[in-house]
Amino acid sequence: EQLYDQGLAKTRHTFGERLNALLANFRHVDESFFDDLEETLIGADVGFDMAVKLSDELRDEVKLQNAKKSADVQNVIVEKMVEIYDQAGSQEESNALNFAKEGPTVILFVGVNGVGKTTTIGKMANRYHQAGKKVLLAAADTFRAGATEQLDVWAKRADVDIVTGKPQSDPAAVVFDAVQKAKRDDYDILFVDTAGRLQNKVNLMNELAKMKRIITREIPTAPHEVLLVLDATTGQNALTQAKLFKESTDVTGIVLTKLDGTARGGIVLAIRNELHVPVKFIGLGEQIGDLRPFDPNEFVYGLFK
Ligand code: GDP
Repeated sequence: EQLYDQGLAKTRHTFGERLNALLANFRHVDESFFDDLEETLIGADVGFDMAVKLSDELRDEVKLQNAKKSADVQNVIVEKMVEIYDQAGSQEESNALNFAKEGPTVILFVGVNGVGKTTTIGKMANRYHQAGKKVLLAAADTFRAGATEQLDVWAKRADVDIVTGKPQSDPAAVVFDAVQKAKRDDYDILFVDTAGRLQNKVNLMNELAKMKRIITREIPTAPHEVLLVLDATTGQNALTQAKLFKESTDVTGIVLTKLDGTARGGIVLAIRNELHVPVKFIGLGEQIGDLRPFDPNEFVYGLFK
């Protein structure tokens, strides 16, 4: 698929091509092959632990299967990558969004300023609006100047409704109004934008907790997802941010943005391995359609194209 191919081009051109080059030179199982493999994996940002784990498991599996051709080894690499990705999660979780059985589904977006949170909400709003859902946005980042206006632009682009508040007003009040409206006017989905000023971490986390309390009071099963937005181009920094948010909120899924802007797409695997939270969507560009549900199989196979 074209967007996916283009969006992952940078990663494929470095990570994928290095893997392909390694495989092209593969003659038999020797240590230098696995050393090179580990180095390639670390270079792609899969993280040190993941690189070592993957290469250890591959070593065993390649011997076990008595793989002699590079095509066999490639298959083992793909299998193992997907397997390790899957193992890092729990059985009941899935990549699909968790929708309310009845009434509005409420999805909270959290993440640091600049990661692409507003853009992602716009893309998601468009995606579900196109799918025939009645979508409402809540502009609950009343703190950052311009955040509300920016979300409003996306609401218009996606042709969905939005609830806003005055600058510096209580974000929890915006959330309350939005939840009321979602219930009253039979919206299918409410996407809530939140502030991302990590300089004042305690305040931010208290603010998020207050929003969640209000949402749950109004709709006991909500929020149905808390999606953490991370910027793939920030590499290991994204992981540090994720750990901070995970400490204070129940993050149920990750949206990894700007994968089109990095050659180190292996960060997808690192996130999974270290955070044990599924990557639900990936951002592959700045346009409204540049968002895809994340599929580990498609991702790993795509690397070898
Ligand atoms: P926020 O501060 O987290 O709300 O971030 P914004 O949504 O304003 O996005 C910050 C910048 O990242 C903008 O220039 C966006 O166009 C850009 N951006 C967001 N998502 C993507 C993506 O998937 N790919 C690329 N290349 N740029 C993105």
